[in-house]
Amino acid sequence: MTLKVKQKEDYADRATPVVESKVTDNVAEDAEKPYSEKDTKFINITADITSGFMFYPYNTLSIRPFTLGCLRKIFRAVSQHKLSHMVEVISFSIDPDKSAMDLTAQDFWSLMFWERINSYKKAPYRVTFNCLDNGHKAKVASGELAPDTLANEIVVKNTGELEVKHLDKVAVSEWIKKVQEEYNISLYPARASDLVELEELQEKMELDEDKEEIAWIAQLASNLSKAHGQTLAERIDFLTKEELSPDLKNDIEKFIELADHGIRETLTVKCAGCGVSRKEELSFDVLSFFPVGD
Ligand SMILES: [Zn+2]
Repeated sequence: MTLKVKQKEDYADRATPVVESKVTDNVAEDAEKPYSEKDTKFINITADITSGFMFYPYNTLSIRPFTLGCLRKIFRAVSQHKLSHMVEVISFSIDPDKSAMDLTAQDFWSLMFWERINSYKKAPYRVTFNCLDNGHKAKVASGELAPDTLANEIVVKNTGELEVKHLDKVAVSEWIKKVQEEYNISLYPARASDLVELEELQEKMELDEDKEEIAWIAQLASNLSKAHGQTLAERIDFLTKEELSPDLKNDIEKFIELADHGIRETLTVKCAGCGVSRKEELSFDVLSFFPVGD
């Protein structure tokens, strides 16, 4: 299953099956020229792509910092809580023949990080985190404190510590092969397009229980290749209707664990609800990701 990426004429013949060709790939073998060489507004970030291009029909990527024009779309993404606008802004900021929709979700978030660090050098930004303190959680459980006291939102001036994790291509390709042989199911990490589609599916639902249920099955479905359905909804259908072994769930979850890559940001923060300071992993959230306007 190849990604729907427009091919540049000069490397159109490279439209090879993605997974098979990339697993043992050596970057030097058939390196493309980074787009940054054609347009100096762009910066080559090939080495920072933590998926290692394992799932893409290309092996280089460039990006440019946001322009003032991008801010309008970002404003819309934030005011409407729409991730799709944010993906569009990232698509606009990378090589013109590539779409952020086809990136793995984790590569997409990494590019959001890149933009935050490189586009906004001065502005403070708002971050959210949930307090994990056991004492605080016990007080919520007993009703002493309201559940929403666990959710914190703070304004910080500097990016926290970044942890970069590169995809383990060997482990991932072995697992893909195993699952293919055992269930005839082809795995593929969740894409940015799956996040957008999940958001749309959840918007149509009224009940929180339904939203949680769809998120649960979507997590599994988003890690299937498009051979099992072009859209996330089709892949959810596939998982629901096909008579698949419940063991497949564990094997997909193991894949998610093995295929982990991307950037995590941790920061020492103090919970407003209980006063305990700890190192927290900051959550990704369109609303909180970009700097405070004033
Ligand atoms: Zn707390």
